[in-house]
Amino acid sequence: MIQITGVSKSYKNKNALQAIDIDIQQGDCFGLVGPNGAGKSTLIKILSSILQHDRGNITIQEQPLQKTSQNMIGYVPQDICLEETLTAEDNLTFFARIHHLKGKERRERMDAVLEQISLTNQRKDVVSTFSGGMKRRLNIGCALLHDPDVLIMDEPTVGIDPQSRYNIYSLIHRLRRLGKTIIYTSHYMEEVEQLCNRVAFIDHGEVVAYGSLAQIANQHAKSGVYVEFQSEQFDILKQFEHVEEKGNGYRMLTEQPLQLLEKMAHQFERDHIPIVRLEVSQPKLEDIFLQLTGTALREGDAQ
Ligand code: ADP
Repeated sequence: MIQITGVSKSYKNKNALQAIDIDIQQGDCFGLVGPNGAGKSTLIKILSSILQHDRGNITIQEQPLQKTSQNMIGYVPQDICLEETLTAEDNLTFFARIHHLKGKERRERMDAVLEQISLTNQRKDVVSTFSGGMKRRLNIGCALLHDPDVLIMDEPTVGIDPQSRYNIYSLIHRLRRLGKTIIYTSHYMEEVEQLCNRVAFIDHGEVVAYGSLAQIANQHAKSGVYVEFQSEQFDILKQFEHVEEKGNGYRMLTEQPLQLLEKMAHQFERDHIPIVRLEVSQPKLEDIFLQLTGTALREGDAQ
């Protein structure tokens, strides 16, 4: 659906993106993941035609980006872009006009979007009375009015309440069921794991890992076994390799987690060692990113 080949971009002397290669398929919820300053916003501004790239090619459905109709793409900016003194409906009308929606079609699209973002009952309310989460949802609604095939969302859940976050997640699931393609940037790994089927890790303007979540895990991380004892039992783990402290217990990395788990279960039972948890642990995206870049994503928050 979207092919990004060798895309680079600098601001004055600063390289923001260096030779990015990414393919995004129709129906993907594609996660662009990386710490603040990695280059995510630059890439999605280029995809949304807000910025021009210096080198490389981008095609959407095999058409060069420059020749693609702007109606194909909806862009939800990170900063909320609403007129606070107007109602939800008036804000939507403004964006509907930008997309040349008129009369019956405009009314129908506005009704559908208000339903999608769960703000039908608040349509006549002034935006300044809205919570942060409601504003975020309306911000998304503004990008959905023209019914784009591709929705690009820049950190849409920063600083919002759990209910609005849940609402945005279910909106994304519904859009995907309609065949829409979502490009989603975030530095919250847990939400990318929940929402996205494929991801690109970006660090210092480069793609450092790319593919489905399972491909990335297979390529860049080992599975493990996690054990938590009722009381401290570290000595018994000395016979196992690659033991590290994790949470309230220990994790052992291994290529064959089931075999290790069986061996440990057998041993703990034989030695009457009480355990709280013993399970196969899948590598988390956060750990993989840390391993690949040496940068914790949360560090980005402080920038
Ligand atoms: P992210 O979205 O991952 O936080 P950005 O794309 O915003 O990253 O930024 C990538 C790099 O480009 C950063 O080093 C940032 O400081 C720099 N940058 C972003 N926008 C500008 C700009 N308008 N002028 C100069 N440098 C910029």
